[in-house]
Amino acid sequence: MQLAGPISMMKTSLADGEAKYSLPIGSETVDMNALVGRQIELSFQQEITCSNCGKKTNKSFSQGYCFPCARSLARCDMCIMKPETCHHHLGTCREPEWGLTNCFSPHIVYLANSSGIKVGITRKTNTPGRWIDQGAVCALPILEVKTRLDSGKIEMALKSYVADKTNWRTMLKNEVKDIDLVEAKNGLLAKIPSLVNELQARDLKGEIINIRYPVLKYPTKIVSLNFDKTPLISGVLQGIKGQYLLLDGGVLNLRKFSSYHLIINS
Ligand SMILES: [Zn+2]
Repeated sequence: MQLAGPISMMKTSLADGEAKYSLPIGSETVDMNALVGRQIELSFQQEITCSNCGKKTNKSFSQGYCFPCARSLARCDMCIMKPETCHHHLGTCREPEWGLTNCFSPHIVYLANSSGIKVGITRKTNTPGRWIDQGAVCALPILEVKTRLDSGKIEMALKSYVADKTNWRTMLKNEVKDIDLVEAKNGLLAKIPSLVNELQARDLKGEIINIRYPVLKYPTKIVSLNFDKTPLISGVLQGIKGQYLLLDGGVLNLRKFSSYHLIINS
């Protein structure tokens, strides 16, 4: 099989507890789970086109955009990474209409175990994809709120007690301890009752979602592969976790190379 074109981050879904990955490339989509265990070759064609405007760019900004788009799109603004800094109410949102649709919609606060317990937020419609993208082995939605800003306020409050980042090396090596997320939830919510009340956050009383990944062998040492340094990357695909391809010669964060034009051979 040979496919060519610009890629975007892998689309993910959960089927019978296992993460399923498909990679958009050009007008096609590759079932990546089917390639696990096989020799693959990915070759960067020295071309990057912005995933918003389609123009050529020498460098990719905000994971797949040209510089002007990265400066003008609300989805590339710092407030997406730091939702508690939402500035829509000040009239300074880069795209107020986009903000209304995307940020003023139900968001959830969740706990996940990716490299240890972490708190995170996401749009309600973005699960379980968000957890698969982070390589979480389990996740528990804990609260639902009306806006991204409110979810950010709760995340900020909980950050004093749990991490909000994944250690990606630990995640990729699968050095993950068992954590009782329900017990953790009960302990954490007991610390912020007035904020939960003030924001009218709804207790989701949800169940834990467990996620298995299509991995034959986890790396013991992490070598990071990069198309900017190595345009031709090949090896046996030993697994996929998060947005990473685990090749026998190193790991490749495909998300980082959104909008890169590749030729894939398998
Ligand atoms: Zn652009």
